[in-house]
Amino acid sequence: MAILVTGGAGYIGSVAVDDLKARGEDVVVVDNLVYGHREAIDADIPFYQGNIGDRDLLDRIFAEHDIESCMHFSAYAYVGESVEEPKKYFDNNYVQTLALLDALLANGVKRFVFSSTCASFGEPQYLPIDESHPQSPTNPYGWTKFMVERTLSAYQAAYGLDFVVLRYFNAAGATARRGEDHSPETHLIPLALFAASGRIPHVSIFGDDYDTPDGTAIRDYIHVSDLSSAHMAALDHLRAGKNPEFINLGNGNGYSVKEVIRTAERVTQRPIKAVIAPRRAGDPSKLVANAAKAREILGWQPQLPTLEAIIESAWSWHNANTAGYSGSDRK
Ligand code: UDP
Repeated sequence: MAILVTGGAGYIGSVAVDDLKARGEDVVVVDNLVYGHREAIDADIPFYQGNIGDRDLLDRIFAEHDIESCMHFSAYAYVGESVEEPKKYFDNNYVQTLALLDALLANGVKRFVFSSTCASFGEPQYLPIDESHPQSPTNPYGWTKFMVERTLSAYQAAYGLDFVVLRYFNAAGATARRGEDHSPETHLIPLALFAASGRIPHVSIFGDDYDTPDGTAIRDYIHVSDLSSAHMAALDHLRAGKNPEFINLGNGNGYSVKEVIRTAERVTQRPIKAVIAPRRAGDPSKLVANAAKAREILGWQPQLPTLEAIIESAWSWHNANTAGYSGSDRK
């Protein structure tokens, strides 16, 4: 029996694939490689290149493998781009996911672990954000994830599709083998590290007039390995026949953009030039998780909760892979 991992060539999916493999699970990856990297999947993992909405491809995968569960990572995840090109996001993240769900149900797969996001909450009404916080996304990216969440509830009631929805706060950091290599890179931590290494002249601070102590936006950064370990626990949860759940994943500590840049300067021991720029459309001011439920229901325990450890791991990966995956011969 195998786990179908969509987006397994992506940043978080590739770490989960490594962890599944280390547990001795059979894994099958489907990824269209629009943003993912073929080099991020070991050669011995069955890999299919294509879209999750391609029913012929999905049926071929089901014919060739005995799939028992699906971890669905694949999505476009640029908040700013989603505001400018919502069509792209609603199609890829929502319509294609509906097609994936159709294929899973048609093939009798009823365990689904879904990568959702803190962006599904929108501007917080209170902090830290627990699972019962109202959801009112401030950008199309968040809407697409929220719509899948609602769909899963309806499909669970109507078709018995069991799920765990994991709402990531800000994924960051790297393992020894896998790291963040987006093109274009838009995320704060890699850009701060690029500025530290001289690859870019400066990092922009998107807005310093938020209602926060230093005026810059606050996020809860979580190590990619800790996100992955929650997926392993979610799979165990589903296999044990437990209830569908919505679960927030963060460390419960909020750091401002300026604090992230200062921490990156400390970790890298290099100065990082920062330039104040306008706010980015769609960005909430503060997002910090209450992850008590993840600990309680999944027995989840983050291993790298500090911002220093997260940035250190990212810095090691960047130094070992200065050109990202394209410059690597890692297999
Ligand atoms: N950010 C920034 N400069 C950048 C990239 C991001 O100031 O070059 C800010 C962004 O506005 C947000 C925070 O850093 O408040 C984290 O953004 P990122 O894109 O890393 O993750 P997101 O919160 O969009 O998932």
